[in-house]
Amino acid sequence: MMDDNRILIAGAGPVGYAAALNLAHYGIPFTLLEGDATILDDPRAGTIHPPTLEMFANLTLTETFNDHGYIVRNYHYRDRKTGLVANFNLGVLSNDTPYPYRLMLEQHKVSGIIDNALKNYKNHKILRKHRVMEVEQDNHIVVVKVETPNGPTIFRGRYLIGCDGGRSQVRKFMNVNFEGFTFPERFLVVTTPYDFEKVGYAFTNYVSDPGEWCALFKVPGLDEKGIWRVVFPTNPDLTKEEIFDDQNIEARLQGFHPNSNSFPVVHRNLYEVHQRVASCYRDGRILLAGDAAHINNPLGGMG
Ligand SMILES: Cc1cc2nc3c(=O)[nH]c(=O)nc-3n(C[C@H](O)[C@H](O)[C@H](O)COP(=O)(O)OP(=O)(O)OC[C@H]3O[C@@H](n4cnc5c(N)ncnc54)[C@H](O)[C@@H]3O)c2cc1C
Repeated sequence: MMDDNRILIAGAGPVGYAAALNLAHYGIPFTLLEGDATILDDPRAGTIHPPTLEMFANLTLTETFNDHGYIVRNYHYRDRKTGLVANFNLGVLSNDTPYPYRLMLEQHKVSGIIDNALKNYKNHKILRKHRVMEVEQDNHIVVVKVETPNGPTIFRGRYLIGCDGGRSQVRKFMNVNFEGFTFPERFLVVTTPYDFEKVGYAFTNYVSDPGEWCALFKVPGLDEKGIWRVVFPTNPDLTKEEIFDDQNIEARLQGFHPNSNSFPVVHRNLYEVHQRVASCYRDGRILLAGDAAHINNPLGGMG
């Protein structure tokens, strides 16, 4: 019966981990159920804004994040043809926040750092290869059926927080809609070690153009030596293979920034962009957080 008194969290993405760390900090027992075996390091979120840094400062992790990320104090709005339009100085926020900058740090590193920090706390379990399949609740308890390496298992808790991403399984068992739309064009992210800083770019750049906008970010990368992500829109009529074609990618990079050598490309990624929000974030003892509750264009680093 004691075990029923804990909080269940579905999904160990950055939001599930953040929820877990908050519960640990306040001494509330929890079980974190994650379907995947490991923390995936595919290129996704790379930007952390001041309010999130303030939250993690309360949990004593912001300095660790700073140690592994890039502190970016300005960003550029640019026109693809005419160049720099505006250079935003985030230092003007210094009276409003102790962290007047964006921190560039990949989300899998955020998850890894929190995972490590949780080792300092007791009364919790992090169970990987545990995929939430079904959810039931009454006035007192939430009952979750979980697929595990040893077969289906039942977990009980006082509350369940669904942090299981945009396709949330938890949400399907709640009395909520997930209204909104999906943009017809997908976004292409090309990752290259080419050093755009030496040709005048900031670590964060939003580049306008009536034909092909672009966004450019520098993140630490796996070896923390720095890597650039270039984001382009794509033609909805093209297949993934056509979009990923080497010549196509080289042409797009050359079109954006002509270079005498070809661009080294270390990763390419294509993702759908949605704008959807749950009609309610809570149904009885079940709550939604993160992408399970709301998904939007991540370009501003506010996914
Ligand atoms: C290219 C790209 C760039 C982005 N850049 C930014 C950015 O700079 N800043 C920003 O804030 N956001 C950004 N985003 C958005 C950001 O990645 C998401 O908002 C973020 O990952 C949401 O975190 P989450 O923990 O809610 O969900 P997720 O990261 O999707 O994590 C969900 C977790 O739940 C697990 N799971 C799923 N189903 C189950 C189940 N049934 N049972 C158990 N576990 C389950 C998954 O394996 C996963 O580990 C970007 C996204 C993309 C694609």
